[in-house]
Amino acid sequence: MVDQRNRKQSIVTRVAQALHFVEAETGAVIPSIQPSATYARDNNYEIRKPYWYRRDGSQTTVHAEAIIAELENAEASLLFSSGMSACTAVIEHLPTGAHVVAPKVMYHGVLQQIQKYESNKRIVVSSYEAGNLADLAAVVRDGQTQLVWVETPNNPNWDVTDIAAAAEIAHAAGAKLLTDCTGTPPCMTKALDLGADISFHSATKYLNGHSDITAGVLSVKKVGQFWENIFWVRKLQGTVLHSQDAWLLIRGMRTLFLRVEKSCSNAMAIAKHFEGHQNIETVLYPGLPSDPGHEIAKHQTGGQFGGMMSLIVRGTEQNAIDVIRFCELFYPATSLGGVESLIEHRKTVSGEGFPVHPGLLRLSIGIEDADDLIYDIEQSLSRVFGVT
Ligand code: PLP
Repeated sequence: MVDQRNRKQSIVTRVAQALHFVEAETGAVIPSIQPSATYARDNNYEIRKPYWYRRDGSQTTVHAEAIIAELENAEASLLFSSGMSACTAVIEHLPTGAHVVAPKVMYHGVLQQIQKYESNKRIVVSSYEAGNLADLAAVVRDGQTQLVWVETPNNPNWDVTDIAAAAEIAHAAGAKLLTDCTGTPPCMTKALDLGADISFHSATKYLNGHSDITAGVLSVKKVGQFWENIFWVRKLQGTVLHSQDAWLLIRGMRTLFLRVEKSCSNAMAIAKHFEGHQNIETVLYPGLPSDPGHEIAKHQTGGQFGGMMSLIVRGTEQNAIDVIRFCELFYPATSLGGVESLIEHRKTVSGEGFPVHPGLLRLSIGIEDADDLIYDIEQSLSRVFGVT
């Protein structure tokens, strides 16, 4: 018989069982939700560590953080009440005047937040073309830049940035690298193993997977003073994830690997179907061999390419909007990473001034039947453009 005692369990198993959770008193295999806002001191009037007040977190939130830390190969993870509050905590912890390098095109909410801090003179920002390492290297300031922000694949064009190469550039200048790989969750992208110092994910998306919470998570390979400072921003602003939402996140993560695999295979089928289609100018999807980011994505995201893609529709901006209007299966909604497929006109959602192609439709591919999804877009295109 093979000695299995030293065998390491797969992360797939660990996540499916929420780290083999068993409640000590009852044997329940599903954790309870700990909703308490405050915790009684003991008979000596001492705090019963580790919890004393909800802004520090609760056992439900800490359980969810432990699962994500294993997924990320992280020393620690911190959950926030939204992706935006996690990103804001990172920006907020920087000293006044810190130099930050960020992409010109990225998730519009984070971009707006970075621009707001810049216009308030809290930070100094230099921008680079997403995915372009030479451009990134050119704006990093030796000994001055404190944070390099990489979103990969980036919203909504799905440009891929080589995380290991970006880490080298950041570290050579003495900066930390933050990656936002929300589009390819940590069952696909191991950003910390590739060299990122802080890995961020909007856990609203694939980690939860059911479009019923907002959450954000930061993870680090090595804790230090900067991590303490970020923790203090969360504590003082009270942006820790609620226990109920942490519980939903734990439940959602149990099926993370299954959901992501199906979303990826659906997305690949849809991308292949519409590449070269008469009504589609371009399919933006790193899974296509023709995509400029394909080779990097191949090794960076574990051989899968994610469930996010964009279609640039031929014709007018109104034609693109009409394609959404005539879809009967895709939900015309923002967000991503849920089991249901969503479609949105990115220019309408991002607002005026955001650099995006007017014909670009962003698709979040869910776990439905791929042929049903393809048919839905096909029938919509034929209603917009007529059957040819
Ligand atoms: N980063 C990316 C890439 C996103 O797509 C989003 C949300 O869509 C966020 C950050 C912000 O996350 P949240 O909506 O959870 O605040």
